[in-house]
Amino acid sequence: MLLTLYRTEGIILRVRPFGEADRILTILTRTEGVIEAVARGARRPRSRLVGATLPFTQIQAMIFRGKSLDNLSQAEIVNTFSAIREDLLRTAYGTYWCELAYEFMGQRDPNEEVYLFFLASLLMLDSTDDPGLLSIYFELRFLAQLGYRPALDCCCGCGKSMAEGGAGSFLTSSGGLLCSSCTQSNASGEVLSAAAVGFMRMLLVWDLRKLNVLKLPDTARLEVKNGIRRFAAEQSGKPLKSLDFLRSIEAHM
Ligand SMILES: [Zn+2]
Repeated sequence: MLLTLYRTEGIILRVRPFGEADRILTILTRTEGVIEAVARGARRPRSRLVGATLPFTQIQAMIFRGKSLDNLSQAEIVNTFSAIREDLLRTAYGTYWCELAYEFMGQRDPNEEVYLFFLASLLMLDSTDDPGLLSIYFELRFLAQLGYRPALDCCCGCGKSMAEGGAGSFLTSSGGLLCSSCTQSNASGEVLSAAAVGFMRMLLVWDLRKLNVLKLPDTARLEVKNGIRRFAAEQSGKPLKSLDFLRSIEAHM
């Protein structure tokens, strides 16, 4: 059998034990998209792969392409993101982001722009003073880049322009706004204030590097946070497991 070896850069999204001493990794790679790879012997304390096969770690890797599972041959650590791993709240945000990545990105569907955005967001999660705001930004922009962009310009019931900045119901099933008259005949949307709608519009165009200068009222922030999470859960079509963990950590902060 001909084995193909390839070199790529990647971020470990998920780690599961396998067999006696192996790990199965879900990796977001720069050139191959999301892949699953087995790291043989990675649970042995003296393994060369032990430190390079932990969640969030950015690696340079040599990987054998397999029929179903790839095989991690070598891995050099580029960044361990230790500040994320050492802080429970940051870990909870990062774990949720990783779940969004493997739920919303197809396997072996490379997207370098999305990879670089994910990496830039992890770098900021490692150092920001406001991981909650960063996570709202990440969730909205990451989903938008994958084609799940909330439609905020027109009412998704009647098509009327919503560009005036008015409040509207946010329909998580369709990912859009309803004008006030359509809201009256549809009870399933959650109403977003004008401030929250404006904040969402701003986040969709805002530069990640300038996130720390963004100021907004706590109420609008909470509305947008909850709206995006409902949207993500509805679009994924199944419960997002790490969201329960994140909510329980947030509740104790
Ligand atoms: Zn309408």
